[in-house]
Amino acid sequence: MSLITKRLATIRQQLPAQVRLIAVTKQVSVEAMREAYDAGVRDFGESKVQEAQAKVAQLGELPDLNWHYIGHLQANKAKKALELFQWIHTCDSLKLAQRLNRLAIELSLQPQVCLQVKVVPDPNKFGWAIPELLPDLAELNQCDALKIQGLMTILPSGLSEPESLAVFERTRELAQKIREQSWSNLQMQELSMGMSEDYPLAVQAGATMVRLGRIIFGERTKGEGRVP
Ligand SMILES: *Cc1c(COP(=O)(O)O)cnc(C)c1O
Repeated sequence: MSLITKRLATIRQQLPAQVRLIAVTKQVSVEAMREAYDAGVRDFGESKVQEAQAKVAQLGELPDLNWHYIGHLQANKAKKALELFQWIHTCDSLKLAQRLNRLAIELSLQPQVCLQVKVVPDPNKFGWAIPELLPDLAELNQCDALKIQGLMTILPSGLSEPESLAVFERTRELAQKIREQSWSNLQMQELSMGMSEDYPLAVQAGATMVRLGRIIFGERTKGEGRVP
């Protein structure tokens, strides 16, 4: 059994069956991705549009793959991202949501989208602070080419375990609060949270999708362990 297969088996034992494992494959070779595929992975996460474009082309023959975009999306890459990815986890502003919506209509696509939130103020990260998100909900609800499925968050670095758990729990509570407002187009069933170092806490707090890179594929060579 390969190392990747073993690691995946260990992780799966710890994940509740309903939690979707997204294998984060930035800087990971397509050979390693094939191994992960053979071990049952069907969801790949990438944070660079160009890198993903090459991999989608190389792995195009594999059936039922889902591609998840998890990087900061620049406006000029939005169209390409929609063409490549079924999921955009990192919709981080109303402006980007509206652009994605316009492009999705043009391209006749219905992408699945998460809204990226910052529960704790963090100038180094993108996304809505909670008080900024609530006033944007009415306009987000009108982006009806987008399937707005839930929230995504990335922990700030340097938090203790209880602090990390609290951030994940507040993210879940925010999704719940939005659900209670009964917007027609904001489903809020999904919580994309948890990375290699913190996913058990995220799962404890109700994550429905975890984004795992290094714990499956090993350390990345060019750094970028945590992204802005
Ligand atoms: C790189 C990345 C991950 C995976 O991080 P690991 O520490 O390798 O598990 C998850 N989410 C986002 C947004 C990332 O950029």
